Amino acid sequence: VAKSDGKARWRRHDPALSAAIIERLELRAAMETALARDEFQLAYQPIVCLDDHTPVGFEALVRWLHPTRGLLMPGDFIDLAEESDTIVALGTWVLREAAATAVAWPGTPYVSVNVSARQFHAKGFADTVLTALADTGLPPDRLMLELTESLLLRDDDHQVWNDLAILRDHGVQIAIDDFGTGYSALSYLRHAPIDVLKLDKVFTRAITSSAQETDLVDGIVQLAKTMRLKVIAEGIENPVERTLLHGFGCHFGQGYLFARPLDPAAVPAWLAGHSI
Ligand code: C2E
Ligand code: MG
Ligand code: MG
Ligand code: MG
Repeated sequence: VAKSDGKARWRRHDPALSAAIIERLELRAAMETALARDEFQLAYQPIVCLDDHTPVGFEALVRWLHPTRGLLMPGDFIDLAEESDTIVALGTWVLREAAATAVAWPGTPYVSVNVSARQFHAKGFADTVLTALADTGLPPDRLMLELTESLLLRDDDHQVWNDLAILRDHGVQIAIDDFGTGYSALSYLRHAPIDVLKLDKVFTRAITSSAQETDLVDGIVQLAKTMRLKVIAEGIENPVERTLLHGFGCHFGQGYLFARPLDPAAVPAWLAGHSI
């Protein structure tokens, strides 16, 4: 058998190479051209003040309008992108697109952008952010970056803390996303260059499940406040969750109760209808 058809033979005879794996490989390959083909889109989900439900910002959430598979959600492709430097290029696109969109919004809502660890560790991350702000004209205090807890937990990694400190000095807000689902190293958070905790939606959901869970969420909110951090509760779906969280002193919320992620074109009208 000639070397040239080694690939085909392997494909035919390896039972472990399931259709699912081939699909993932195809999706990963397609992602590399998807950026150039302009197949990614952002949806914007409002973040509101829990006192009066006025909007304070929007989280940018990426979607992939795949030419044959239709609309793909981040759960379908972000982990694939994170396996290679694709996440760096995609992340930069998200940042620039979100900043360019937010600068045109009426009022001064911020836009919050998810940043993956690989993207953060890529060379010149702080510069990439500051350049996106300068190029689009979005004031730095109208940008929030969402990072996961694990990014902060390597005490040998002074570069991460340095970059965060630089961005914060410019006025960019730093949030810990999905708080409470990763390693909760409170000793690190105490000194970390961050402004906001985003309480993961598992806690919002748990709040009504038992008295003990209710107390736990209350305790987490109090802890964040003691550390002088703002708290955004994720995944608020009903008025009971909203009222309990507000009662604990949670400042901000996000979830289907207030709004689903919106098409960019729908944001100005939504803002007009929900601002005081
Ligand atoms: P996340 O950052 O925790 O974003 C919140 C997710 O919860 C979004 O899912 C949002 O649509 C969903 N959500 C909002 N309100 C509710 C609610 O009331 N109930 C429920 N059940 N869900 C709610 P989505 O858009 O599918 O995004 C999933 C994750 O993908 C995000 O979780 C984030 O970690 C990641 N992601 C999204 N966009 C980007 C991006 O541009 N870059 C990176 N690196 N990751 C992204
Ligand atoms: Mg997020
Ligand atoms: Mg989150
Ligand atoms: Mg979450």
